[in-house]
Amino acid sequence: MINQVEMFGVSCDRCKEQYECRTTGISFRTEISDIEEDASESGWHISNDGQKHYCPKCHTINDEDELIIKNLELHKQISFDEFIKHGLENGANVVNGLPWSWKINGKAITHENDQCYIVETIDGKKEFWKGRDKLIAFESGLRIMDASTDSHAPGSCPM
Ligand SMILES: [Zn+2]
Repeated sequence: MINQVEMFGVSCDRCKEQYECRTTGISFRTEISDIEEDASESGWHISNDGQKHYCPKCHTINDEDELIIKNLELHKQISFDEFIKHGLENGANVVNGLPWSWKINGKAITHENDQCYIVETIDGKKEFWKGRDKLIAFESGLRIMDASTDSHAPGSCPM
């Protein structure tokens, strides 16, 4: 005879990746609590209300025990235009079509003028100028760099 069984899986609320056990390849269990426990043991974050799940790549817990959602990929360089787009897509309040304040990987971004934003970087609060700078996310925080420098070139590695 055939028995139909209901199964539960967990996927990341940010990147949509499905949890899969690295050793067994199991992604589904018949009990929600079992699959959540598996995911949690693999470094996933599950919100207290059980509504949100974040994979290890998409979140971190800061020194104050707060959940930080990584909304910008690490080591990715973004231009001013991509930065504006990021703000518009990540919950910034918008004034005159421009994002006013939001967070990138948990760090505060605020509008200074239409060509310049103030960014909470590894080196403190820095200006990010249109046409001059680019922004890069590192594990330890954000960094503003001159858009004309190649961060992969020997000698200019910021780490
Ligand atoms: Zn994710």
